[in-house]
Amino acid sequence: MNRFKILHKDKSSRVGILKTAHGEIETPNFIPVGTQASVKAVSPRDLKELGAQVVLANTYHLMLRPGANLIEEMGGLHKFMGWNGPVMTDSGGFQVFSLGLALEHGVGKFLQNEFTKSKPRLNKVTEEGVIFQSHIDGSKYTLDAEKSIDLQVKLGADLIVAFDDLESPLHSFDETLKSLELTERWEQRSLKAFKKYAKAGQLLYGVTHGGVFEDLRIRSAKFVDKHFDAIALGGAHEDRKTLYKVVEWTVGSISEEKPRHLLGIGEVEDLFNCVERGIDLFDCAAPTRRARNGSLYVSPGSGDYSSLKGYQAKNYTINIKTSKFSKDKNPIDKNCKCLCCTNFTRAYLHHLYSTGEILYHELASIHNLFFVIDLMKKIRESIGNNRFDTLKNSWISF
Ligand SMILES: [Zn+2]
Repeated sequence: MNRFKILHKDKSSRVGILKTAHGEIETPNFIPVGTQASVKAVSPRDLKELGAQVVLANTYHLMLRPGANLIEEMGGLHKFMGWNGPVMTDSGGFQVFSLGLALEHGVGKFLQNEFTKSKPRLNKVTEEGVIFQSHIDGSKYTLDAEKSIDLQVKLGADLIVAFDDLESPLHSFDETLKSLELTERWEQRSLKAFKKYAKAGQLLYGVTHGGVFEDLRIRSAKFVDKHFDAIALGGAHEDRKTLYKVVEWTVGSISEEKPRHLLGIGEVEDLFNCVERGIDLFDCAAPTRRARNGSLYVSPGSGDYSSLKGYQAKNYTINIKTSKFSKDKNPIDKNCKCLCCTNFTRAYLHHLYSTGEILYHELASIHNLFFVIDLMKKIRESIGNNRFDTLKNSWISF
């Protein structure tokens, strides 16, 4: 049965429906990240109310605490976290790689960032899988294709992801090829395990890799398309420009009728540019992480873009921490219809942030998630009316 249906296309962008055992997901759409089976500071009731249709939980974190067996015993993720809509999990591999250092290559899997600055942990990749140390207490774990699928099946997710190796943006062509070949073997094993363990209705995504190399990206796209019913775009890309190239290479090499998920991407500019290139689903921790740090989304015309530079120059945010908002009677975004913007002022949010009130986290997270999810709704409507270009141009010119 084909669970994904494309309803309308406007050039390469498309609207569709992805059916799961826990409800339908309208696409294109954004998936809030609930790392520990909880979208930080937002209750399932508020998630529903702000329009979220699906939530992503992280297998790595849940296998360490409280453990997949416990969650299975409690009736699965939906019951455990009180969310009856669709749930997606990742393979766990990304966190293993990103929270440790890939010592076997002598280089980090990432360019200098928040992870590589942290204390290195043991992380050994073999043909079998990955041996790693828990970031909580340093105890040793192994994760491989069969275990990752078994964990995700036990968690009871509707959408699950094959286990893969993660190339580094610092890798040469040959090193990236070696990593891709390993990923292909792990994906074959994931598929076999999925056929053995999966419960009715679960859908398995294969993940595309190949770093910044066009021929490897195309090879990976064709491989995943041949073996899987759903396609997730993963792996390393140096910058925004390369990301868009990667999306074009991949989308150009896969079947039209399969759902396409771009892993870990969710900034406003990327949502527009990747929907334009045919992406259906996104997940990202940015909206809630930004909210906690005082970075709140605003629509064009109400932002303060000048304080942000380089890669983050157009992030459509204001910094609520700054004192200029202390007497601002406006809502965070005058165009936003969320619980926060319809009831509270920037001055109040500034006050809540400054005094460390818990309510700040709730209101700020609700606003940022509503903002992104509502934007996806507007994008779907614009595609349906063949006016995606018009909407995009009113937000960005790129
Ligand atoms: Zn709002």
